[in-house]
Amino acid sequence: GDVIVVEDLWKTYEMGSEKVHALQGVSLRIRHNEYVAIMGPSGSGKSTLMNLIGCLDSPTEGRYWLSGHLVSELNDDELARIRNKEIGFVFQTFNLLARATALHNVELPLIYNGTPADERIERARQALRDVNLEERMNHKPNELSGGQRQRVAIARALINRPSIILADEPTGNLDSKTGDEIMALFDALQQKGNTIVLVTHEPDIAEYAHRVVHIRDGKIFSDEPSSRIRHPE
Ligand code: ADP
Ligand code: ADP
Repeated sequence: GDVIVVEDLWKTYEMGSEKVHALQGVSLRIRHNEYVAIMGPSGSGKSTLMNLIGCLDSPTEGRYWLSGHLVSELNDDELARIRNKEIGFVFQTFNLLARATALHNVELPLIYNGTPADERIERARQALRDVNLEERMNHKPNELSGGQRQRVAIARALINRPSIILADEPTGNLDSKTGDEIMALFDALQQKGNTIVLVTHEPDIAEYAHRVVHIRDGKIFSDEPSSRIRHPE
């Protein structure tokens, strides 16, 4: 079924007397286990759409169902619970705690939801194993390469076993070889059953997805299978 249903979403930012119409009636359905890239030039509304899909912000108008829940009808506690259960976030800048080890960064979401310490550590180790980084678990972010930092961030995003991964320019701070390694991880997650929504302005990265949605000036401009799907090897 559909895990993300966005219906006629509008987002207007007001800055003094200026209004910026960042999204202008976006409708989008994403099914379970789809792999979708949202592409568009800088300023086209990609991050705004991502923040709405991730419930990090609320729309000016329109409706959004996340895994069947109409988000505007949830109270803050319900929204936080559903978001933590359903969505894992991956960002361009990794967003790791500088003073904490890889293991501690990965177990943080479990501290917030009250998981006992021994279970936390076991699950965090397993998540680091899943991204091939167990041997670096006691390193801090500044002792890791960019690709290793992003793998820590992906392990953290996976720790609550979310069904959806939202990744905003996940390779934006990485060289292309390291970026390809990170994209291979997303491929594996999709094959294991995750739904992946990827925001990027890089065509080479968007090609990893199975479906590419282009946005321009806050509107969906095209929505098609990626050429990887159109021309299977
Ligand atoms: P993209 O991610 O594609 O670069 P954004 O969603 O960040 O696009 O921005 C879309 C438009 O909304 C741009 O014109 C941007 O300047 C504006 N915008 C984004 N966030 C804010 C904000 N918090 N306040 C005011 N304007 C914003
Ligand atoms: P504010 O930042 O203005 O306090 P919130 O983000 O707390 O707004 O959300 C205000 C209301 O909008 C809440 O009732 C919340 O459930 C709802 N909401 C939050 N995110 C979304 C979303 N992506 N789509 C629809 N409604 C949302």
